[in-house]
Amino acid sequence: MIETGAANPMARTLDIPEELMGETMRQVIAHEIGHALGLQHNMVASSMFPVDSLRSPTFTSKYGVSATIMDYARQNYVAQPGDNLKPKDFIRRVGPFDDFAINWGYRTIPSAKTADDERATLNNWLVHQTGAMPYRYVPQQYGGVDPRSQTEDVGDDPVKATDYALKNMRKVVPQLVSWTTRAGDDYADLGEIYDETLGMWGLYMGHVTTVIGGVNVDLKSSDQGANVYRVVPKAKQKAALAFLNANALTTPAWLAPTDIESRLGPLNIGARQANVLTSLLGVPRLNRLAESEQVDPANAYPLAEFLADLKTDVWATPGSGTVPDANRRMLQRVYVERLAAIVNPPASPVAGAGFGGAPPQFTLPPFVAPPNLARSDLPALARAQLRQIRDDARRGASSAKNATTRAHWLDIVDRVDDVLEAKRR
Ligand SMILES: [Zn+2]
Repeated sequence: MIETGAANPMARTLDIPEELMGETMRQVIAHEIGHALGLQHNMVASSMFPVDSLRSPTFTSKYGVSATIMDYARQNYVAQPGDNLKPKDFIRRVGPFDDFAINWGYRTIPSAKTADDERATLNNWLVHQTGAMPYRYVPQQYGGVDPRSQTEDVGDDPVKATDYALKNMRKVVPQLVSWTTRAGDDYADLGEIYDETLGMWGLYMGHVTTVIGGVNVDLKSSDQGANVYRVVPKAKQKAALAFLNANALTTPAWLAPTDIESRLGPLNIGARQANVLTSLLGVPRLNRLAESEQVDPANAYPLAEFLADLKTDVWATPGSGTVPDANRRMLQRVYVERLAAIVNPPASPVAGAGFGGAPPQFTLPPFVAPPNLARSDLPALARAQLRQIRDDARRGASSAKNATTRAHWLDIVDRVDDVLEAKRR
């Protein structure tokens, strides 16, 4: 309902017709049988399909939503009303990558006497592929690193796919009350589906966020050459930030319509916006930006430039006289909070740096392993921004026209003082 209800009339009720529910279950079971046959998840597969092909009835009736059943690509949220896809073509199915993997793993090679004798043939199948599209596999640990390899996404361009997703969601949200309620029922179903809608919105924003600091990972055998790690071009990363600024940092008021709020009470979409900002300022991402700059300066989005762009998005240009509304003031506090976590990291290690102080159980791969935060450039850059923010906030306080705005800027000054002075107390 949430992902395809706009384009698929069968998905507009909680009593999903048996035909569609049956097909969906058949595909879930096929995925689990894939595991039984030895196949692993492969989240890069859905990125083999151009976003616009997902709107084509011809393409989707042949391929569904992803090149393998082993991807977490569940529903075609790209197709728009009027594209005329069949209901079963909105969901996943066995695809060309499954053919490739099963052939590679199971075909008998009569000329080979031992398993070792098969190696040359198997490697040849991988290097010189003849399938409908080149087989790719990315291990799941690169999920937050490679924007092609994400769960719950479809298509080869996260910004373009998410743009279509939001077009659909903007049509679905105004229908949620009528699609989830029947005479005599309470609003429990509406509450559950609305919560899932916000969750899905967060996932969509996550797909775009991963583009920033994104690195494409193509693990290779030695006869496939180099370029295992390729930094996502800077222009794409900047476009992703612009998209997030327009759709997530700017309050998406359409996501909290009055007809739902009047039934469920206050709808806290600010918390969801804060999640996006928290992820953007997460240490793993900032570290990847720094590492990308080191390995591929031509493509990289320099860390300092990203931080400057994000600061402008959240705080506006100094002296512009922009008055932040309640949601924006909240995001600005989150911003200071995230920089504070870099300057004065919490006692327990930050994400990924081992669990509860215990040494990591395994060696993390490049671009996934956390930095030595204190020895990195991150605290210096965070402190520099905090000083700028404090200067701007002082100016903001002296020119503020109302009590709340003035109190906000003074509070920001105090908060930054607390962060920068923490160690000297
Ligand atoms: Zn699975």
